[in-house]
Amino acid sequence: MIQYFFSFLPENNLVKIRILIPKVIEKSLEFHLPMWRPGRYQLQNFAKNVLNFSANTQNGEKLHWQKTKKNVWNVHETQNKDIEISYQYYAKDLNAGSSFVNKHIVYVNPVNLCMYLPKRIKERFEVTIERQHTDDQFSCGIQPLIEKGHNLRLFPKDFHHFFDSPFILSKDIFHETFSVGDVCFHIWIQGVFQIDQQKLIDDLSKIAETQIQIFGEFPEEDYHFMLIVPENTYYHGVEHRNSTLMVLGENGVLPKSYYNDLLGLASHELFHAWNIAKIRPKELLPYNYNQENYFETCFVAEGFTTYYGDKILFESGVISYEEYLHELETTFRRHFEDADNASQSLLESSFDLWVDGYEKGTPNKKVSVYSKGAIVALVLDLKIRQKHKEKKSLDDVMRKLWKKFGDQKRGYKYQDIQNICEKVFGESLQEYFNLCIESNLSIFDFTNQHLIYLGLKIVREENTCRISPL
Ligand SMILES: [Zn+2]
Repeated sequence: MIQYFFSFLPENNLVKIRILIPKVIEKSLEFHLPMWRPGRYQLQNFAKNVLNFSANTQNGEKLHWQKTKKNVWNVHETQNKDIEISYQYYAKDLNAGSSFVNKHIVYVNPVNLCMYLPKRIKERFEVTIERQHTDDQFSCGIQPLIEKGHNLRLFPKDFHHFFDSPFILSKDIFHETFSVGDVCFHIWIQGVFQIDQQKLIDDLSKIAETQIQIFGEFPEEDYHFMLIVPENTYYHGVEHRNSTLMVLGENGVLPKSYYNDLLGLASHELFHAWNIAKIRPKELLPYNYNQENYFETCFVAEGFTTYYGDKILFESGVISYEEYLHELETTFRRHFEDADNASQSLLESSFDLWVDGYEKGTPNKKVSVYSKGAIVALVLDLKIRQKHKEKKSLDDVMRKLWKKFGDQKRGYKYQDIQNICEKVFGESLQEYFNLCIESNLSIFDFTNQHLIYLGLKIVREENTCRISPL
């Protein structure tokens, strides 16, 4: 079994990684570092943080190696040998998808720094993590075996599993659990927070319960809301199969005023436990960490999730209808004030996430798969609810997606989405898909036509817009 050993040099912000590969059959081994991380559809440059790479046999004999790409280390003369690779990773970036090590916290996203052998990506393997202090708490979606002393051992099912399981080690972690049905939810908060613990547990329970009601079941046995309170102001979350890693707060504190932001982020990321962790576009199944994974349907993965993330806050009763309308107005403003006349359709902007999706980029070019995606999800929901007098909704679409694609035997294509929506709606939605998803035409009037059902309209005043009653 392949073994990984993680230890840390907090004073230098370094993670030390050792990999043991017993009884190698191949003449040479290609170690790859991922080029991107799931959740952010953009190539990254994790390799720039790698230093002191070396390759030996377990008897200490040095092996020749060379880099063949920025993220590929090729080790020679490996046949019939037990191989040991070691390197260090500079971990000084703190966001929800990075790795960060100092004397207070070890925070690792394995997808940043874990070299892997592409041919053996589906293998089970062993990870040993050395704790700095025996009283460091360990937070992760993978349950560890704790050995005497400092070490923790994990057995990820495969590399996809480990890449999708960030972990935190720190003395300063608040931990609570709650259950919804037979699913155990964990809350882990590293750092200082001024939020009522019981209220947080109650509200996250309501959010989880409402989401589970939509789909009828939860995809995992447990789920971990992991939160790091940063020194600098930050608002960021990343979804994983049975966890989310969120970085939220300002000046080393998570103040009360961030409470609704925290709930909104948690609700959004939890919805991804179905919608992307399991229900996934064909192009992303499985993830290929070595290159761009272009796909056109991010309005489902991020747009629908953004719509539901907010809507569920209201439906579960943790925010008021007025607060929900305020969230909706923010989404409308992001799109209608900036991007309603952009040159790309949602399909094009989804594909181009890999080009410039996470920067401001060229003016009037792209639309946001998050905000325009959320608006078209709302319009679709209203269409279905109005036609079927609230007996059907976008929830039925989500449930059908879950039933059809939740087992990950295959991913969905764009046409699958239209087919399922039309099945629920009961007639063609060609006009909707042409206008909202495939074209770059304004959806302002179309959105307003559908908002009548809620007794609302969007009013444009000079360069701003707002929600108003009819
Ligand atoms: Zn998301």
